Amino acid sequence: MSRAVSARIDGIVESMSEFVKVISEEDLDLQDLDEYCNFFAGNPQEMASREYVEVLQRWAEPLDKDWYGYKMSHRPAQEAAAEGLSKELGIEFDPGDILLARGAHGALGAALAAVVDPGDEVIFISPPWFFYEAMILGVGAIPVKTKVTPANYDLDLEAIAQAITPRTRMILLNTPHNPTGRIFPAESLKGLAALLEEASEANGRPVYILSDEAYSRILFDGNVMVTPASFYPRSLLVHTYSKSALAPGQRLGFLALPPDMPDKVEMQMAVMAVGAATGNWLPDAIMQYALPEIEAMSVDIAGLQSRRDRMVAALREQGYELHVPEATFYLLVKSPIADDAEFARRLRKDKVLVLPGTALDMPGYFRISLTATDDMVDRALPVFARAMEES
Ligand code: PMP
Repeated sequence: MSRAVSARIDGIVESMSEFVKVISEEDLDLQDLDEYCNFFAGNPQEMASREYVEVLQRWAEPLDKDWYGYKMSHRPAQEAAAEGLSKELGIEFDPGDILLARGAHGALGAALAAVVDPGDEVIFISPPWFFYEAMILGVGAIPVKTKVTPANYDLDLEAIAQAITPRTRMILLNTPHNPTGRIFPAESLKGLAALLEEASEANGRPVYILSDEAYSRILFDGNVMVTPASFYPRSLLVHTYSKSALAPGQRLGFLALPPDMPDKVEMQMAVMAVGAATGNWLPDAIMQYALPEIEAMSVDIAGLQSRRDRMVAALREQGYELHVPEATFYLLVKSPIADDAEFARRLRKDKVLVLPGTALDMPGYFRISLTATDDMVDRALPVFARAMEES
């Protein structure tokens, strides 16, 4: 192992330890979850739709000898993604500024490696996605954590202002936010843009926003997506079809550069160079061909929303404390006992799987994924009620 990696590996493992601990508990065999009510992760709990499967089957059939040859970005895929994103965000994206990637994870990795130097600081917002800290450490940078405001899960601009130093290179945020379901409001993003303009000026080097918008299409109650790119041109936007098509094993996403980003051509080149240098290259050929049709698909948002409403009402009735998420797949619930891992183990005894908040830097809470089936909800609600009575 390289000295650089061995110097960092403890930090990387440490940054993921709570998550790794949760998924490696002896009695939780991820291969054998069929009899569980599975609220653990944003994974599908039903068979993939026939529509999705047929699209992949159709594009698997080669139409010419180059079908399965090495591929650069497939232009129709970039065009379809640019059109979809332009409609979604109200910003006109150029197809050439859609840099196809292997899901949000691939796009995040490419953006970090293209922008951040070893020793730079990257501010990230907590609760974070599991791998942010590991990914920042992985490019030799220093993760700097700031928490959302506890009262309403908004960006804490004061905390962010205090975290900014001359070494700050990037702020990594996720909106709509997993696990709180918050869409960071335009006012907060404008405030953030002002802070970063000031910091870029003071540092003599631009600070970038890396905006993980994985859940931008999982919106409830007619809410609209707000992107920091509307207020800050040095925003790199991460998008994925893992959520909207609910097939995260088929890796497909992209990094989008806003039309007014300064030095955009250099950024495109940097992302390409990173792909070449790291092997974090493009999505597989079939996924690229299928993108325009996958772009048009959506999980059943109305179904997710009614599951949300049913669970929020039932859990509150049972005495649980939780807010109503504006977006995403998740409910964030206060654990009736302080030890959320213990409470998750209690639920697991009755075959109900939730994610303990400690795995997300939210001790005292647990997360429920609404990708579970209605039948799982039927079976799980009495278990939640019993666990509340016992605690
Ligand atoms: N970011 C967030 C906030 C996520 O919740 C997830 C998936 N759970 C990802 C990124 C990774 O998405 P992908 O499967 O597209 O890599």
